[in-house]
Amino acid sequence: MSYRKDKLIAGYKAFRSGDYKAQKTLYENLGTKGQSPKTMLIACSDSRVDPTDIFDAYPGEMFVARNVANIVPPLDDSDGFHGTSATIEYAVTVLKVEMIVVMGHESCGGIQGCLDGMGHDPNAGYVGKWVSIINNVRDRVLARNLPEDEIVLEMELEGVRQSLTNLMTFPFVHEAVEAGTLKLQGAYFSIIQARLMLLNEENEFELIEA
Ligand SMILES: [Zn+2]
Repeated sequence: MSYRKDKLIAGYKAFRSGDYKAQKTLYENLGTKGQSPKTMLIACSDSRVDPTDIFDAYPGEMFVARNVANIVPPLDDSDGFHGTSATIEYAVTVLKVEMIVVMGHESCGGIQGCLDGMGHDPNAGYVGKWVSIINNVRDRVLARNLPEDEIVLEMELEGVRQSLTNLMTFPFVHEAVEAGTLKLQGAYFSIIQARLMLLNEENEFELIEA
């Protein structure tokens, strides 16, 4: 057996004898009654920023979409496979979540790729095409002539703000927000210090006391 498959099985066994032992009834209830998460998390696929870890969520608590650079694309009626948009649609129209959190993070490879111009490179594959969604964010940030060491952070933060703006282009999101049944929240996680920032009313990121 391969080492990686061994790791999967060892992890599964640890889960069965650890977390699962305390959550057996929870799993039974979720399995028989279905899920009703109140929060949707849109985060990066990056292995270092697992929302259920960061927010200490139990199974059934969070509906999660993860993709490269935690991007919400704008409404797009063209033919194609709109995975993130479908996940948001399901969360809002079927599960009726009460909050959608878009969480950016430190040293995001997708954000760096966009900054490096991947979104303008026709040979950059699916990732290039995907991060081209935030080429407008790149243009905005670069136009501000920021010091070199502030550009990446600004791009990561501005990417979250843009995704929140893009969320509102979906009629079902717009309607739920207007009706007061859905709230949108921006977040940012710094990996090195494991610090969380949340967007406040002034559209600024505010460090949360741990
Ligand atoms: Zn990332």
